[in-house]
Amino acid sequence: LEVTGAPILSENQKWKGVVLVFHDITELKQLEQMRKDFVANVSHELKTPITSIRGFSETLLDGAMKDEAMLEQFLQIILKESGRLQSLIQDLLELSKLEREDFRLNIESIDIHKLLEDLTPIVKQHAEQKGVKLETDLQGESYIEGDSSRLKQVFMNLLTNAVNYTPEGGTVSVTLEDTKNLTRVSVSDNGVGIPEEEISRIFERFYRVDKARSRNSGGTGLGLAIVKHIVEGHDGTIHVESEIDRGTTFHVEIPKKFTEN
Ligand code: ADP
Repeated sequence: LEVTGAPILSENQKWKGVVLVFHDITELKQLEQMRKDFVANVSHELKTPITSIRGFSETLLDGAMKDEAMLEQFLQIILKESGRLQSLIQDLLELSKLEREDFRLNIESIDIHKLLEDLTPIVKQHAEQKGVKLETDLQGESYIEGDSSRLKQVFMNLLTNAVNYTPEGGTVSVTLEDTKNLTRVSVSDNGVGIPEEEISRIFERFYRVDKARSRNSGGTGLGLAIVKHIVEGHDGTIHVESEIDRGTTFHVEIPKKFTEN
């Protein structure tokens, strides 16, 4: 609590009283703490790949590169880690763009059915590499007012996650349902699931249930934060149902008519 005060004086400059203003600064403090945590997280996330890139390059230069197998192996690691840095920086820039005061979605009439069909081949390829099956149930057209490249990002992120968090032999499915006023896309998998007490946290930046798994699959920990931003920017909602070792479903609902907030 922060208190500021000012005297109330009468016409002949006599004290009549005092005004006290109580500011509740809990929220400000929380925001400040979140900002600090974010900077700490970013620094840590950047440091890990850089440490590894430096370490492996030094070892190579110290003589390891004479061994061809080692040369190849270490270069692969360097390549992977620099790719990770690149995705991280891309996602950070994206998030900061979305959070800008003057950011506007590029609204046009789009067919969500077609948008999902356009994504299917890319996701299918990723799924096949992992031995995961992709099923789609997209009936008819579904026109909404939205930002097509941003919505592509949303579904791409959800589908990539679904494939990443589903073991070999599993299935990812995407369904599209249309009602009078909104369109609902659900992305389901029968993968690892999310513990109930962590479901509410997965949309936070850098929150991961299993850090090692996320990193291994190339995740930045920012995907769902970006997804939530875009969905809410469309006045839509996203919610999650999940059960450990059973799988996860993300439901995204977007109103068909766009209203600027
Ligand atoms: P990441 O890059 O780590 O995937 P996200 O922001 O996309 O970051 O997701 C945050 C976390 O939510 C993930 O690290 C993972 O623990 C969990 N998660 C997201 N999607 C799924 C899913 N389909 N199944 C299980 N866990 C998931």
